[in-house]
Amino acid sequence: MTTPTPTAPAQEEALEKVSPSASVLTNVYDSAERLKLDAEVVDLLRSSWREVRAQVPVRMDDRKLRIFEGYRVQHNGARGPYKGGVRFHPQADLDEVRALAMLMTYKCALMDLPFGGAKGGVMCDPNRMSQTELNRLTRAYTQHIGMVLGVSRDIPAPDMGTNAQTMAWMMDAYGQRYGYTPGVVTGKPVELGGSYGRDQATGRGVATIMREYAAREGSHPKDIRVAVQGYGNVGSWTCRIAVEHGFKIVAVSDVKGGIANPDGIDIAALDRWVTVAGSVAGFSGATPITNEGLLEYDCDYLVPAALGEVITGQNAGTIKARAVVEGANHPVTPSGDRGLAERGIVALPDTLVNAGGVTVSYFEWTQNIQQFRWSLERVNEELEARMVSTFEQVMARAEKDGTRPRQAAFDIGLERVAKAIQLRGFV
Ligand code: GLU
Repeated sequence: MTTPTPTAPAQEEALEKVSPSASVLTNVYDSAERLKLDAEVVDLLRSSWREVRAQVPVRMDDRKLRIFEGYRVQHNGARGPYKGGVRFHPQADLDEVRALAMLMTYKCALMDLPFGGAKGGVMCDPNRMSQTELNRLTRAYTQHIGMVLGVSRDIPAPDMGTNAQTMAWMMDAYGQRYGYTPGVVTGKPVELGGSYGRDQATGRGVATIMREYAAREGSHPKDIRVAVQGYGNVGSWTCRIAVEHGFKIVAVSDVKGGIANPDGIDIAALDRWVTVAGSVAGFSGATPITNEGLLEYDCDYLVPAALGEVITGQNAGTIKARAVVEGANHPVTPSGDRGLAERGIVALPDTLVNAGGVTVSYFEWTQNIQQFRWSLERVNEELEARMVSTFEQVMARAEKDGTRPRQAAFDIGLERVAKAIQLRGFV
């Protein structure tokens, strides 16, 4: 077995066309090379520990049976029970879920949470399904993967296309079979043992990182124009909390379109509009732009907070922001990353930037185990403290090693995972 060599640029572009997991692995190999990791440890991390694929048959409202495909991928559990969200999305195929599970391993390790990495998914379009259909889908999915879940085995949470209601159904379906177990999922409604502040946690984390990065640059949030792609849970909370910090949100988009206003968008008014219209598109206090236009919009910080792989080798040259703040998971491909770096654009990586969600999931899990509830103030304070200290660790490591923040984040995460693998005797 040989230590993997770093991926050459041409190979890199070819690989990312092959699959999201190959694309995530290029970062892992790059980091393994820097850390001079044992080749057997790298071999272990190349693939998932377990991948469950299950049929998810659902009786639709029109009485027809549709069979969806669902997955739960457990990548590595050396540091603790598997942890990661469940995605309901037409593109959530096995390889995408596998890539996202890998990222969870390094995200949890970077944040020093006592978890391994996992992800789940069902290939479906939740926007085209009724609540009763989604309820049945979630229960069927939970029943069919239930044997690999558990408070100290694997703890799902929301991700794209799922929310607190989905977690309530999962908890209920799991409980019917295995007994009442609120700690088996996080991101539940507060009424069912969810944590205060979990719904806003990812956005709060993103806004905290922006604030810390601005301070490091020596700039003031009021002088920073921010463009946000996505106005779901992550994008909308990022906007609300960034505005509290004084940032100016100049462009926002969602699947139906985007809006921009160089003088700043009134986010409270936008929220009222979205509640009625169901999209940011058509908001009167701004001009319309496309989703591609949003990525190229003249701004200081660009926050991709929706789909993965939106910044690639193809469009990295058109980005005008000086920093890309990764609210989404894996929004920048390796060739996109190189393109940004060549132009001096800093990419603050997903495993740091969007880790607020899983961090408050960890708080929720500990509260469930202790059968105790923290106040919102305590949740936000502890979240802030962890985000700030991890940001500082990543920047200090990057400075010390002369690496980019993504490389530093992978180095810290991978080093911890490798250490746990060795201590537990996996290799
Ligand atoms: N889906 C979120 C993520 O990608 C949260 C995961 C969790 O809370 O377990 O980080």
